[in-house]
Amino acid sequence: MKIYDYIIVGGGVAGLYSALNIPKELEVLIIVKDFPWESNSFYAQGGISVAKDREDISSHIEDTVSAGAGTGNLENIEIMVSDGIEVINELIEMGLKFDVDSNGNLLFTKEGAHSTNRILHLGGDATGRYMHSFMLSKVSHEVWHSTVVTDILAYDSICYGVTVCRDGNSENLYARNTILASGGVGDIYKYHTNGRSISGEIQGIAIEKGISLKSMEMLQFHPTVVISGDESSLVSEAVRGEGATIIDEDGEQFVDSLLPRDIVSRAILKHKKRAFLDISRFEEKWFWNRFPTIAKFLDGKGFKLTKEPIPISPAFHYAIGGIETDRDGKVAGFHNLYAVGEVAFTGVHGANRLASNSLLEALVFAKRGAVKSLTESRNFQFREFPLLNREWQKEGDEVLKRELQNLMWRYASIERSGVGIEKAKNRVEEMLSLDIGRSLKLQLFTANQILISALQNRSSIGVHYRIDV
Ligand SMILES: Cc1cc2nc3c(=O)[nH]c(=O)nc-3n(C[C@H](O)[C@H](O)[C@H](O)COP(=O)(O)OP(=O)(O)OC[C@H]3O[C@@H](n4cnc5c(N)ncnc54)[C@H](O)[C@@H]3O)c2cc1C
Repeated sequence: MKIYDYIIVGGGVAGLYSALNIPKELEVLIIVKDFPWESNSFYAQGGISVAKDREDISSHIEDTVSAGAGTGNLENIEIMVSDGIEVINELIEMGLKFDVDSNGNLLFTKEGAHSTNRILHLGGDATGRYMHSFMLSKVSHEVWHSTVVTDILAYDSICYGVTVCRDGNSENLYARNTILASGGVGDIYKYHTNGRSISGEIQGIAIEKGISLKSMEMLQFHPTVVISGDESSLVSEAVRGEGATIIDEDGEQFVDSLLPRDIVSRAILKHKKRAFLDISRFEEKWFWNRFPTIAKFLDGKGFKLTKEPIPISPAFHYAIGGIETDRDGKVAGFHNLYAVGEVAFTGVHGANRLASNSLLEALVFAKRGAVKSLTESRNFQFREFPLLNREWQKEGDEVLKRELQNLMWRYASIERSGVGIEKAKNRVEEMLSLDIGRSLKLQLFTANQILISALQNRSSIGVHYRIDV
């Protein structure tokens, strides 16, 4: 039986940075569901937050705590902010080129709820694309793409590897350490900004295995998304950070555009008139230069840059909750299982994530997980698991999936009520009793957990806003 030293599920920045912190001579397999670049990491626009210097650490911590409504895990926030400086320096030393001014000084921009400019970016608004491509080019470990992880091989709090489906064939793959870096849950929502492979299946497996998930009701909605037909595209908060404002059809600025995302999203929802992003303060050439990806997208949609206001709506963006881990990314109650990045819950975001803290969290805890795992004993008796051949998708799943996306968008969205959540939960439970494929089943488990957590949390806090309590 072949045994890898590491199996890493997911090839976003969390998975890739884990891999980069594991020695080349160890046998590491990275598994990604789709193309290697198809991840939320690749689509990240605005940037990555980092304390500008040691003096800025306490202010970055304060901003993170206050955006999270004071409920974040302070110890882990301190770790993220102070280790963050080191991680960014490491990437720069490795050759990653953040945007700089004409004198070669790093350019820091501002985003909502940050008290100062501390967001680094790459390629203007292509931070994720540049960072992800850079890391992928540096990783020497094996990557299997178009391979879906369909199960975790776990027994008695020990993880022995995963089951995968590749070219229609299933197989069990064994490893001494398994790192889950499979991202969030976006595709269970009708409108979202996430990549197409991000649908919360691994969270569903965790639920099935009795692994603890925390704060699943904490879901962040982004206020400035351009929705056309079935396509939703983000316009980064960095655009507001540079001075764009949110207005209505009468040109009235009805909300402070740099307030936390949940407040801005609710203000847009409640305002009776259509919302727009006003980018008219920018000179067209400057806008193309600073935000090339967004400019290209808007231009392609026929908007007259920068004169015409851009119609915007909120859409699902980020999963704050996830698999409970300790400060080294270790999954609660397991010895050789780690979860890092958006799939994990470290508690740093509290009830709301401060803009651009997610890439930072992913990198910091990915490194900590890798470093910790290298110090742990990897000698335990291996066991083989029977291969369970379960159909990943079944006929009829697509229709039910659309129904799930609609239910989540309607009842587990920016505003929630107990009655609505109950209704969605009952239907999700009904769907779970149908003859469905494993992928949909896992997504339904995750959706159900979100609804259960949303029902149980009767206080409105951060992104969890109950209209009935
Ligand atoms: C449009 C957009 C813009 C953003 N902008 C910013 C920003 O400017 N700053 C910031 O800090 N954050 C931003 N975020 C959030 C940030 O990008 C993500 O939180 C972060 O990249 C998550 O990284 P990750 O490695 O955990 O997961 P991801 O990058 O999402 O990667 C997940 C990986 O897991 C794989 N996977 C999933 N399920 C399976 C499975 N069953 N089997 C095998 N593989 C699987 C996927 O294929 C993928 O490779 C943005 C997000 C989006 C969507």
